[in-house]
Amino acid sequence: MVILSISVVEKSEASVHYAKVEKIITIKSKIFTDLRHFNRSFMNIEPIPAFDDNYFWLLSNDHKAIVVDPGDAQVVLDRLSQNGLTLDAVLVTHKHYDHIGGVGKLKAKTGCRVVAPVIDGVAVDMTVNDGDEVSLLGNKFAVLGVPGHTIEHVAYYSEGLKCCFVGDTLFSSGCGRMFEGTPKQFLASLKRLAELPDDTEIYCAHEYTLANLAFAQVVEPNSSEILAKLARMKKTRAENKPTLPTTIGDEKQTNPFLRTDKTQVIEAILAREGKKLLDEPAVFHALRSWKDSF
Ligand SMILES: [Zn+2]
Repeated sequence: MVILSISVVEKSEASVHYAKVEKIITIKSKIFTDLRHFNRSFMNIEPIPAFDDNYFWLLSNDHKAIVVDPGDAQVVLDRLSQNGLTLDAVLVTHKHYDHIGGVGKLKAKTGCRVVAPVIDGVAVDMTVNDGDEVSLLGNKFAVLGVPGHTIEHVAYYSEGLKCCFVGDTLFSSGCGRMFEGTPKQFLASLKRLAELPDDTEIYCAHEYTLANLAFAQVVEPNSSEILAKLARMKKTRAENKPTLPTTIGDEKQTNPFLRTDKTQVIEAILAREGKKLLDEPAVFHALRSWKDSF
């Protein structure tokens, strides 16, 4: 009887102790979540949909904004006006018209700074190359040279915001067409992005996710990750929401172009080509060519 009562007391003390520990863990994790949220509350990131499937990404604090790859000025001006924002800067990833078409008008109307690699016909205030760092609205962005889709293509990575604007280099479960550059260059660019922390949010310039997943599923038919993502993203699109951003961690599981060293992808290419390819860039090239005609 006595033993029983001690045991009850011990159990009760243990429960109180565990409850306390649990409470501390909950508070700590809430502080962490709040801090992250707090950080992000100074830099809201939202898509401005344009053309058939482009997103111009708008980063803003309470008053000022940055826009990435504005292919059209009017939709950006409209959004700035709706949100009461002043445009501080334009970031450009590469030279294609659907990414630069609005730059001149935005600069003329708002006086914003233009940050871009060297591009014919674009008046750039700050020319960037691989290895540069840009400070905008209190945030630092590392410039990553990611040639392949085009030669001058760059991505903008913010370690503080845990995000990267990748233009047409990396898509959710896909990658851009290889218009310039070599398979070796493009693969190196994708591997560079894949080295970013897994929780890095990836902001791509197009809504191509469902088409990319359909291809990814053919390449890796037994992937439960691709199957699950396809179901999630179909639901997202049915609700007319963007499937972006994605994360590097997710892409490493569901993007065949980041998996050219994986047995499943190598075997899929082997089955299609009927021969073993020499190296990883050759696997990437075969995969990219397959997707071009998919
Ligand atoms: Zn492009």
